[in-house]
Amino acid sequence: MSTHQPGTLAVHAGHEPDAATGAVAPPIHLATTFRHGPAGERVAGYEYQREGNPTNDRLREALKALEGGEEAMTFASGMAAMSTLLESLPTGARVLFPDDCYTGLRMLFAEFLPERGIVPIEVDMADLDAVRAACAQPLAMLWIETPSNPLLKVCDIAALAALGHAAGAVVVADNTFATPLLQRPLALGADIVMHSTTKYFGGHSDVLGGALVFARNDALAQRVAHRLHVTGCVMAPFSAWLTLRGCRSLGARMAMHCANARAVATFLSTHPRVARVNWPGLPSHPGHAIAARQMRDFGAMLSIQLHGGRDAALAVAGRLRVFTNATSLGGCESLVEHRASVEGAHPRSPQDLLRISVGLEDAGDLVADLAQALG
Ligand SMILES: *Cc1c(COP(=O)(O)O)cnc(C)c1O
Repeated sequence: MSTHQPGTLAVHAGHEPDAATGAVAPPIHLATTFRHGPAGERVAGYEYQREGNPTNDRLREALKALEGGEEAMTFASGMAAMSTLLESLPTGARVLFPDDCYTGLRMLFAEFLPERGIVPIEVDMADLDAVRAACAQPLAMLWIETPSNPLLKVCDIAALAALGHAAGAVVVADNTFATPLLQRPLALGADIVMHSTTKYFGGHSDVLGGALVFARNDALAQRVAHRLHVTGCVMAPFSAWLTLRGCRSLGARMAMHCANARAVATFLSTHPRVARVNWPGLPSHPGHAIAARQMRDFGAMLSIQLHGGRDAALAVAGRLRVFTNATSLGGCESLVEHRASVEGAHPRSPQDLLRISVGLEDAGDLVADLAQALG
């Protein structure tokens, strides 16, 4: 199975018919506890839901196969995966993180991790000289997010992994925007892939979840798994089942997401009201060549910056009809969000920027909606 293409793995990995009944669709195991022998002997490898259950194990198999890792863990949310990993670092650990990144990661670094003695260092990951300079001192972790939120910056995973490893760091890639259908960071040298499965894996805006996939089942993987099982930020079996169900159509959905994004980005890139389109598939994007090398396709997240600043951005967001104003991404429905309005007292996103998650509607209808909203 591991020799197959990602599209085949997405359909088949962790999808063996149920051994007891032959059911082709997997059962949901809701049991919190599993019978054991008088001296605690496990009957079928399970003991208590927090420590693992068969439905989650199917999703772990799928994640390992898709990302090409030896070990995988599932979590209650993407943030639970992220914070469990970061909290496994020792006091004094220096962590390099990208200047453009998911807001939750920035909040962990601003509000919680310094209390534990973890030292965050913000750097432009597209600037390899800046990364090299930051790697001059010993580094515990290098955090990659490509394409990044919300500017869709692209960075070179293989080059960053080499720099991080030379400084002694564990290299982590948040692969939420790309998914393993488009980009496989472990094959490019990263040690760990992180996902918010809430997004494209679930794919229907109805299930929260997170995952870590480790290239090697090493001491760090075991430490993180132990931390997960003790602290208990685990994914519920029903969430694992819904996420597995999403996984089966991930290949088909990503193909259509990407094709729709290309149509939308191409239309927007010539519109006179649009100052800038941030989508790595456009040849004018500064990271286009790297993205073309390390991704199969360019994804369906993009952002636009409008002439006329904040007022123009809010007016366009308010006039869209097919796109829904909402946060998050990766569902069937197209979403738009004025990021600066939802980032609290000190927004990082430019005021003229709208982030767009291109969904699975008819591409012509999406373009027509943008055309009427832009006026
Ligand atoms: C949504 C998201 C997260 C956080 O995941 P949750 O499931 O919302 O906790 C992390 N990284 C990226 C890139 C995301 O889009």
